[in-house]
Amino acid sequence: MIPFCKTYVTGNEITYIEEVLRKGKVSGNGEFTQKCQHFFEARFSFKKCLLTSSCTDALEMAAILLNIKEGDEVIVPSYTFSATANAFVLRGARIIFADSSATNPNLDASLLESLVSPRTKAIVVVHYGGMACDMDPIMDLAKKHNLFVVEDAAQAIDSYYKGRPLGSIGHLSTFSFHQTKNLTAGECGMLVVNDETMCERAQIIWENGTNRAAFFRGEVDKYTWVGVGSAYLPSEITAAFLYAQLGFLDEIQKRRKEIWFTYQSAFSSLEREGKCRLPNIPDYATINGHLFYIICQSEAQRDEFITYLRERGVYAVFHYNSLHKSPFQSDKHKGGQLVNSDKYSSCLVRLPLFFELDGSDLEKVIDTVKEYYLNK
Ligand SMILES: *Cc1c(COP(=O)(O)O)cnc(C)c1O
Repeated sequence: MIPFCKTYVTGNEITYIEEVLRKGKVSGNGEFTQKCQHFFEARFSFKKCLLTSSCTDALEMAAILLNIKEGDEVIVPSYTFSATANAFVLRGARIIFADSSATNPNLDASLLESLVSPRTKAIVVVHYGGMACDMDPIMDLAKKHNLFVVEDAAQAIDSYYKGRPLGSIGHLSTFSFHQTKNLTAGECGMLVVNDETMCERAQIIWENGTNRAAFFRGEVDKYTWVGVGSAYLPSEITAAFLYAQLGFLDEIQKRRKEIWFTYQSAFSSLEREGKCRLPNIPDYATINGHLFYIICQSEAQRDEFITYLRERGVYAVFHYNSLHKSPFQSDKHKGGQLVNSDKYSSCLVRLPLFFELDGSDLEKVIDTVKEYYLNK
């Protein structure tokens, strides 16, 4: 079976982890954590990066930083992972679900203004598959209504909007280095703080509500509990793993994008014949080879397609189920039908895409997909 995804181990992970063990500083915020953070700040012009144990942690930090409280409303796409919304629910927010665009699974920026109320505090955008949401109108709307924008850039490392790195545009951004993402450390994430005024407090929240960072900078003579926070740091073992991956960022991205474009050109004729739909890249966006999807014509066809592929050794998978229809949120959702989100929930199929997917396996995926569509 060709798996859906497979973790690429560069070989340097063990070397760097051994270095951590030898030096004995195993807990968080050591040399490798700093190296990773500096790498991202330098390469993607992020103002301030803090490694976290997961993207989920980074989202929870964002919710604390924005002072989200009971009664606040936060706009979140319905077509996303539960973590995107859950972090804000934990602080007492009510989630206002946004529909996806008709042309891609990202939220439809043109519908956002109709979702804003006097209680709205933030908009969380998700760059689905690493392809940018239309950020200019979103940032303009946020400015007009005095809202914060959080980019859930979990899938969006090294991808761009009008030449600007994703994660550098919103007030805050979150990344994931979970096993399933382009770069991984097993379980790891990162909060990006682009709003200068939030940098200091982000560090306090990061380290259990203490001013430990100011203490190490010599600004206070002892560190103490100054606010709410938690233990969001990953260990140096995790950071060392991630740092090994960063050394191969360009190679990983190059191969993943190669595979993505190979799929795109192989299946373009299917799309032209009206048999399925493929991702289309808006002028303002790039892809980062995170995932490649095909949109089937119905849920029944999707199930048949996935079964067909799996019976022939190709492990394809569908993705999110609309959050506004989830058992937890369906009774709280008052926003009516979100037809595009539902369409992606029932019709989108992701194909195997990982660094080590070799030429013959790639060919097998392509041939099997084409074979399925032969008589459709
Ligand atoms: C993977 C993912 C997350 C969660 O990341 P973790 O690091 O596993 O917490 C959140 N949002 C989106 C859009 C994701 O793809």
